Amino acid sequence: MTRVLALAAGRKPAFWTRIAFAALVVFLGTIFANGALAVSAEAPVDRLVAYSARIAGDDARTRIVLDFDRPPTIETRYIANPDRIIVDLPATAFAFAEDDLKAMGLFSDIRYGSMDATSARLVLTAARPARLAIAKVMPNEADGGYRLVLDAELVPEQDFAALVSRQAWSEPQQASAGTSPVAAATTEEFVIAIDAGHGGIDAGATGVATKTPEKDITLAFSKALYEKLKGQTGIRAVMTRDADKFLSLSERVLIARQKGADLLISLHADTLRQADIRGATVYTISDKASDHMAAQLAERENFSDTIGGVELPKETEPEVGDILLDLTRRETQAFSIAMAEAVVGSFEGQISLINNPHRHAGFRVLQAPDVPSILLELGFLSNKEDEKLLLDPAWRGRVADLLVEAIKRYREPLMANGG
Ligand SMILES: [Zn+2]
Repeated sequence: MTRVLALAAGRKPAFWTRIAFAALVVFLGTIFANGALAVSAEAPVDRLVAYSARIAGDDARTRIVLDFDRPPTIETRYIANPDRIIVDLPATAFAFAEDDLKAMGLFSDIRYGSMDATSARLVLTAARPARLAIAKVMPNEADGGYRLVLDAELVPEQDFAALVSRQAWSEPQQASAGTSPVAAATTEEFVIAIDAGHGGIDAGATGVATKTPEKDITLAFSKALYEKLKGQTGIRAVMTRDADKFLSLSERVLIARQKGADLLISLHADTLRQADIRGATVYTISDKASDHMAAQLAERENFSDTIGGVELPKETEPEVGDILLDLTRRETQAFSIAMAEAVVGSFEGQISLINNPHRHAGFRVLQAPDVPSILLELGFLSNKEDEKLLLDPAWRGRVADLLVEAIKRYREPLMANGG
C-alpha cells in the first residue's frame, strides 16, 4: 500500500513547495536562540580539568562547588519548561567521580559534559524555581587551583519567569544558522543525512554489561554506514556529527535540511526495562504513538534537549492550517513509511527484529516537513546479546550493508519516476 503511495507520489517535494518553508526556517531559527550551529574546529583543545566537585544544601538553598586547575570563564542563563540553570564553560574534562555531583536539594537533575570541541556545559534542572545568588570563581589557596561556587536559592515562580524573560529581552536573538536558505538541490545526487544519536553532554543509554554509552555506538555505526555509502554512485552521505559533541534535535534536522538531504536516518541503541527484548526497530513520526513502548522511547529521545539545556519553542505546532505544508508533510510521511518498510524488508531474516518492527511516535528529530526521516533503533543496550553485537565492528558492517540495500530499494521507484 505504502509502496504504491510512494510510486504514485514518485518525486521529491516540488521546488515551489520548498519556498513555503522559508517561513518555517524562520521558525526553526527561533529554536536556536541558544546556539550557533557550531562547526567546531576539531583541533585538540587544551581543556580545563574539573578535578573535584561537591554539593550540599536543602530545598531552599543549594551550593555546588567545582574545583578547576585553571580559572574557568563562566556564563549563566535561565531556561523555563522545565526550569533550568545553564552554566556555560570552556572545554572541560570532568574528572571527578559521578557520585560527587548527584542531584539534591533544589535540583532534581544535574548534567555536565562537552558541547563541542571548545565548550562544555553544566545543566541544573530545578525541582522548584531557583536562581543563582552567587556564581563566582575564586582561587583555592590550599592547592593552587580555582573553585567555581554556585549558590542557588529558592525564588517564587514569577521571579524565575522574570529572570527568563529579562534575559530574552536583553540578549539579541543570535543570527542563527537557521536563517540561511536551505541548500538548493543543484545536483542529481541523492543525499543521505546520517544522524548519530546523542553526543557530548547527552550520553544516551548505557550498555548493561560494558557500560558503553549509546553516543559512542551510534557514532561508530554512523561512520561505518558513511564509509559504505561513500562507495555508491549517485549517493552522497553527510553526517550530522562526526565527533563527540552535543546537537539539539532541531539542529540535527536543520543540518540535514541545509545539506539538502533527501533522507534522514537517525541512529540509536536505547535501553528498555525488559532486558529480554532485543532486535532492531524502525520508527517514523506520528502525532499518536503506535504503542506504549514507542511513546516512552520518543519521550526519552526528546529528553535529549532538556539534558543539553536547549530552550524549546513555546509552540510546537507551527503554521496550523497551512495547506501547502500539510500536503508536503503528508507526502514526506509516505516516503518515510516507504523507507521504514524498505529497512524492515532488508533486515528480515538477516538480523533480529522486534515484534512489529515498524512503529511510530512523536520523535522530534523526525519532524522535518520536507525530508523523509526514520529513526533506527539498532538494538537494545539493555540486552546483553544485543550489546555484544552493537560493539562488534563486523556486525555493524553487515547491518550497514543491509541499510545500503534498503536505501537502494527505497530509491528505485523514485529513480523510475525521474529522480
Ligand atoms: Zn537514543
